[in-house]
Amino acid sequence: MARRTTTGGQNAEHGWGAVTAGLVDLCTPHVRLGSVLELDPGWLLARDIEALVADLDNTLVPYGQREVDPGMADHVRSMLAAGLRVVILSNAGVARSAPIAAALGVPFIARAGKPALHAYERALAKAGSAPGRAAGVGDQLFRDVLGARRSGLLSVLVAPLSPRDFPGTTLLRGPERLLAAYLRRLGRWPEEGLPGV
Ligand SMILES: [Mg+2]
Repeated sequence: MARRTTTGGQNAEHGWGAVTAGLVDLCTPHVRLGSVLELDPGWLLARDIEALVADLDNTLVPYGQREVDPGMADHVRSMLAAGLRVVILSNAGVARSAPIAAALGVPFIARAGKPALHAYERALAKAGSAPGRAAGVGDQLFRDVLGARRSGLLSVLVAPLSPRDFPGTTLLRGPERLLAAYLRRLGRWPEEGLPGV
């Protein structure tokens, strides 16, 4: 919780305006895609990205679904075959995360506490990668995008795979839509697709 101050005379450089602008920046994805399936491993490698920190629910698997769709499994395997290291970073529990990670043959961190910095530190340690050489992909602005950006990763937002969400996530969808509309008005909401492709 931020401590309240009574200094007064705060301006855009030092006051809440700057704090808000910084927070909005951190919640703005670098790249926006319809799905992880559009994330081309060659595009990542060409940008010196060697590791992908991937959200689980509604990013790799529709919320509530226990199996990975064959197309998504093939795509993750193609990323691994291309030399990328993939780590699942999920706020869901071990019982949900472990079977899906095992099916994909990738390591995972459950109950990660995204967007906390320590969640991304753990994921990068598992991948053996520096933040500047990793991308974070997920479907939530206030978890996946905020977490990836404040940790120095390239942030990729994907459209959720299912309209269903974890109940706590449902509460964040309204504010997410408001922020997306605000960024669109500012011309800062990325066009869907890989830049330069
Ligand atoms: Mg998710």
